[in-house]
This record gives sequence, structure tokens and C-alpha cells, in this order.
Amino acid sequence: MQRRDFLTALAATPGTLEASAPEDDQQRDEPRQRKPLTITLLGTGTPAPSLVRASSGYLVEIAGDVIVMDHGPDAHRRLLEGGHRAVDVTHVFFTHLHYDHCMDYGRLVLQRWDQGAAKVPELEVYGPAPIARMTEQLFGEDGIYGPDIRARIRHQSSIDTFVARGGKPPRPRPAPRVKEIRAGDVVQGKGWKITVGHAVHVQPYLECLAFRLDCADGSLCYTGDSGASDSIVELARNCDVLIHMNHYFSGTEPSAAYRAACGNHRDNAATAERAGVKTLVLTHLLAQIDQPGVREQIVHEIRQVFGGRVIWGEDLMQISVTAGKITGIENRGG
Ligand SMILES: [Zn+2]
Repeated sequence: MQRRDFLTALAATPGTLEASAPEDDQQRDEPRQRKPLTITLLGTGTPAPSLVRASSGYLVEIAGDVIVMDHGPDAHRRLLEGGHRAVDVTHVFFTHLHYDHCMDYGRLVLQRWDQGAAKVPELEVYGPAPIARMTEQLFGEDGIYGPDIRARIRHQSSIDTFVARGGKPPRPRPAPRVKEIRAGDVVQGKGWKITVGHAVHVQPYLECLAFRLDCADGSLCYTGDSGASDSIVELARNCDVLIHMNHYFSGTEPSAAYRAACGNHRDNAATAERAGVKTLVLTHLLAQIDQPGVREQIVHEIRQVFGGRVIWGEDLMQISVTAGKITGIENRGG
């Protein structure tokens, strides 16, 4: 298959990567630049179908950038409900390619491409291999959306729509800039840094990563999906906010292998305490434990081990961090 020039998958050797900044800073939304580190939980659910909790997705606003971490099914709907648009997103980071963490990737790229009319900078995409191949197979000329993209580039009606949105023909293809990353990499942004860590989940079938974001306002660690591990404790060391999957009530895991890959609430308490984080946000919540009484018991038992704050995550919950302190928690999901 012919290589597409829009794919720039880098060799996945640990190192520091410069995150590209948009070429035209005037395209930035000025008021956004004054915002503190703002984390919005887009999806706090699991692969199980749910109208209450979307699958995994998080949105981080920092220093004028809008960073999405994972984008599972319905996470994009939550992004819209939270008042954002696909064209606002500047960077996407994927922890792993389980579908509940990446199914809305296609929607994000295609709606951003359609609505952006070649006036927004290309989307910066970071994730473990084979994110480059997945991108090619979705948006390449021979990809799943290849015929759609061809029609939208060539048919006069689509060209007219493109021009009406302010585009200047010829219309370019969607061209996300993909970089494959692995544990040990550091992505340096404008006013933020993301350190890539090792999650313990479903290796060797999928490479599974965790992310730590540091900026002037504070620090955030999002572990993707992971059981307890020393590598997660090290990555999350002294973080202001740790977002961690809380899939199971301790003792109810189907097997030892399941506990190793997904952890449980007592494991999470120990991880948060060992890492010395200030706040633990529980997410990836199964309906079975998202029940009155069970929620309170989980939080109570975690607090017996972990001395910091515990938050039961909800879709569209927004957490603001300034000078290392949580300055706002807003539940915008109603
Ligand atoms: Zn997973």
C-alpha cells in the first residue's frame, strides 16, 4: 500500500518530542488562555453500553491548548455537551487502543476536518503503535473512510460547502499528524509537558500507556487502564490529581488475571497513598458498583488507606487546578 504523506509515524524510541504549535496563533481563542488547568471528564464508563456514563475520555485545557486523552464511544458527544467543538481540539493522546478508548477517534478527525475547512492546524495525535496504521486504515485513500473523503473532496456540492465554510479549493485530505510513543517518552508542549509511563493492562496484545501532565498550574496523572504497579506509583508521584480506573469492588474480580489488569478499589487506595497524590478521581466505573451504598462504601474504604481527597467521577465533571490546588469542581452533567 502506498504510504500517505499525512502520516508521520516516528520510530518509537524513548525521547523528547516537541509538540507542534499551531502555525497561526491568532486562531487561538484568547479567553481560553487565561483559564487554569481545567480537566473535564468526558467519559467515566466502561465498554459496557450505558446512557449514563460514556466510555473513556478526558479533556484538558491548558495554556491555550485543548488536549483530549482517549476518546471512546460517546466521549465526543460529551465534548459537545461540555461546550467544545472538534475544531477546538489541538492534541489527542491515546493510552491504548481498546475500542472503549478510541472509537470516537474517527468522529473527531472527520468532523474537525469537515467543519475546520482547512482553516485549523492539523490535529496532533500521540499513541502507542499501531495508532499510525489505524489512522491510515481509517483516513487513507484505501481506508474505511476513503470513498467518503474522495466524494467530499471532488463532488461539486461538497466543494461548495467547503467554500461556504471559508475554505479555498483544492480541498486537502484529513491529515492528522501521528506520532507513535512508548513509555519513557516526553512530549513537550507550549506551557505543558506530558511524560509517558507504563500501564499494566493487556500486554502483550496491546501496548498500554499512562500519562502524567505537568504545567505551571499543577500536575495530573491519567493511568488509562491499569492494575496496581510500581511504574504507576512512580509516574504519579506527588501529583495533584490522579485519575484512575476503578472497575471493581475488591474481592469481586472474576479472576486474578482480571485484578492484575484492572485493579480494584483497595489497590487504588494503596496506589494513591504510595504515590502521595493529593486527589484521587475514580473513573471507568461499572454500573454494578455505581449504586447508592456501594459508592459510599468504596470511598469510605479508600479513605481508610489514602489520606487525600477522593472524588467519584461523573461525566462532564470539571476540575480546575491552580497553584497545585483544586480551585473548582463543577458537575456540569446535571
Ligand atoms: Zn482497556
